[in-house]
Amino acid sequence: MRIVSSVQEMQRQSREFRPRSKKIAVVPTMGSLHEGHLSLIRLARENAEIVVTTVFVNPTQFAEGEDFTKYPRDIERDSLAAESEGTDILFVPDVEEMYPKGFRTFVEVPGLSGLLEGKSRPGHFRGVCTIVAKLFNCIMPDVAVFGQKDAQQVLVVSKMARDLDFPVRIIVAPTLREGDGLAMSSRNVYLSPVERAEAVVLYHSLQLSERLIGNGERNCRLIISEMEKLIMTKPSARIDYVSIADASTLMELESLQRGDVPLLSLAVKIGGTRLIDNLTIKVP
Ligand code: AMP
Repeated sequence: MRIVSSVQEMQRQSREFRPRSKKIAVVPTMGSLHEGHLSLIRLARENAEIVVTTVFVNPTQFAEGEDFTKYPRDIERDSLAAESEGTDILFVPDVEEMYPKGFRTFVEVPGLSGLLEGKSRPGHFRGVCTIVAKLFNCIMPDVAVFGQKDAQQVLVVSKMARDLDFPVRIIVAPTLREGDGLAMSSRNVYLSPVERAEAVVLYHSLQLSERLIGNGERNCRLIISEMEKLIMTKPSARIDYVSIADASTLMELESLQRGDVPLLSLAVKIGGTRLIDNLTIKVP
């Protein structure tokens, strides 16, 4: 595995693969790699000859007062993990490399970006789209792998790639969970043992909504209220949002119809740690 930290060198490497018709897959991450990330690398491996994993804690996608400075970083561990899963190039630029002095240009997808996560984290998707567009220009991938864990990110980035004609196929990987159901996340390390035990309520509330829908409940407000009641039984939990929305437009739904595949998503603060999770369900 080669470790590359300059944009120019990354582009040079990518251009070298082109004439040899080698398909390139990129797996963008913010590092602190866990099994969820590694499953993306494995999926990338299955879909391309060359896998580029990127590790970059992107300052522009953190809103004011969020955890940019304390976000967990461990590049040595990440590079061992990325290599053991078959990464060919680990791209690890620093902030000055990606945002040199005088940087001015941003990519935005209005509408989709203003809902759910975007409502709670102003500017988040502007930062995400900008860095993903830049990574696409650095790596020139044929395939990009993203996790369903960040369902709205998948929608926003797919729209951006279509609108800007990036010739990239986006592959979505399922959410990997801990044994008790908590979605794997680099932020889980922030949780105290008590918070860690209570954090599984995000997943339990999604399972509850699945049961309610399975039993014939179709009123979204009622389903959300049952999920909220369950979450509020945990002293460390503070709800940011619980949503049942159309899985492609993210518009909130009032009621469900047979055959709908809504996106159920939520963001909850467990102590000081903001966690997200989601599920798509086919309404029976
Ligand atoms: P992050 O490092 O949190 O920015 O995530 C990098 C990529 O890994 C994103 O595409 C995420 O959606 C994906 N990812 C994060 N957590 C998981 C998980 N538990 N299962 C699958 N993919 C994940």
